[in-house]
Amino acid sequence: MGPQDQLRLDIKIIGAGIAGLACALSLRRKGHSVTVYESNDKLSEFGAGLQLYSNATRVIYHWGLQDDFLKVVNQPKVNHVRRYSNEVIREVAHNPVTEWEYGFPQWVIYRPDLQALLAKAALDAGVVIRFGCAVSDIDAEEGTMSIPGDGTKLTADLIIGADGIRSRSRKTLTDIEARAFSEDAFRALIPKEKMLQDPETADLMVGLQSVAWVGPGRAVLGYPVAGGERYNILLCVVRPSEAEVGKWNQPGDLDEVRQHLTKWCPLVRKCWSLVDSCAKWTLGDVPPIPSYVSKSGKFVLVGDAAHAIVPHAGQGAAQALEDAAALAEFLDPTTLRESRHLAQRMRAFSSFRQARMENIRRMAFGNARLFTMENGPEQEKRDQIWGAMTAAWKKELAELGEEGYRARAKGVVPDQDLKDMRTPAARMYAYGYDVITEAKRVVGSTIVN
Ligand SMILES: Cc1cc2nc3c(=O)[nH]c(=O)nc-3n(C[C@H](O)[C@H](O)[C@H](O)COP(=O)(O)OP(=O)(O)OC[C@H]3O[C@@H](n4cnc5c(N)ncnc54)[C@H](O)[C@@H]3O)c2cc1C
Repeated sequence: MGPQDQLRLDIKIIGAGIAGLACALSLRRKGHSVTVYESNDKLSEFGAGLQLYSNATRVIYHWGLQDDFLKVVNQPKVNHVRRYSNEVIREVAHNPVTEWEYGFPQWVIYRPDLQALLAKAALDAGVVIRFGCAVSDIDAEEGTMSIPGDGTKLTADLIIGADGIRSRSRKTLTDIEARAFSEDAFRALIPKEKMLQDPETADLMVGLQSVAWVGPGRAVLGYPVAGGERYNILLCVVRPSEAEVGKWNQPGDLDEVRQHLTKWCPLVRKCWSLVDSCAKWTLGDVPPIPSYVSKSGKFVLVGDAAHAIVPHAGQGAAQALEDAAALAEFLDPTTLRESRHLAQRMRAFSSFRQARMENIRRMAFGNARLFTMENGPEQEKRDQIWGAMTAAWKKELAELGEEGYRARAKGVVPDQDLKDMRTPAARMYAYGYDVITEAKRVVGSTIVN
């Protein structure tokens, strides 16, 4: 079979966020014709730092985009977990140790940089992006949709709903809505120049560590992004009252932030004193839905629209990248030769991704509980365990070195029943996962051509 005989699908994607752009890139690279419809007039400039663990950077390397990414990402050597007094209670080895353990590095990136690099790669591959197009009237079984004001009904072999946590396209499959999690988040970016004015804040900027400060009912996360030009800082606050899932870029009140941190160490308060404005939103997730795919297989949900999770596992964007890499394998024209097999193939994709997502969701909720524990015996036990974990890897590193670490990683069996990220087996499941190989394996066992 020559390339001219290969199945070339007409794919329309709703949303130019991380998930939509990543799917556009991966599917175009498989030879499909791809158009992305984005309701905004341009790519969003909002959003702060995102973590990309090894399961996500593996996908970036698979697409050969690492050189462009390396110009803008930061690669923390270590992650400090500190009490709200600033006492270090845990250190997690990041770079280069994650590469020894999971095969790929761990990055932090400024969200607009990730989005811009994916958009550039997608455009270079031949994807068309149409801005100012808010898609509506989707028929998930027929594969049709429209753009208000345009008047025409658009048809596609496959429509991909990548319209985020507050997705409207999700309504074509289910009534299940995003639900609020019991935390509010405030995020801000501090310019490098301000951080460098004080030796203590300067150390956070240049010290090659990311930091999570944990205290009763609150947690603060900080790390440099945008190639070291800005410091990303996030405050999560346990909220007793009901709320709706928030929009990303609503203005936050800095006085409220200061009130939350009155009992916190001078360093955290100093960082927040450098902030001119912040954004506030209510964290949330999308509860499990029965399927990501319509019966005809002509509509699929990806990214936050399908499976938003709370951010405490640093896996939201990573799972969007996994969706994209997997979908390209399920729709690989060398194994999917006839469109009549699309529905079966898409059902297999949905089951494959749902299984992974529910495990990652459990991990994210488990981590969330760990970060905001009230002071008391449970918190003391947590700190003891974290201290022992730090001592263990430092001892191992001293004894085993790089080669020993690589060899040990080969023996770790991933634990898909993970509850949080505290065991090596749990981390191997989350970060050591090779979505492309796994997807190929499932596709290989479901071929009906
Ligand atoms: C502005 C913004 C800021 C964010 N900031 C952070 C952050 O600081 N930290 C963090 O961890 N995560 C952040 N996120 C979320 C993070 O990017 C996502 O969890 C993850 O990357 C998954 O992305 P997604 O593409 O599924 O959804 P999203 O990133 O939400 O993208 C969805 C896209 O769909 C578009 N869209 C929605 N409806 C329609 C429609 N009807 N027609 C056409 N287009 C439509 C939206 O405009 C948006 O561009 C942010 C998301 C956004 C949109």
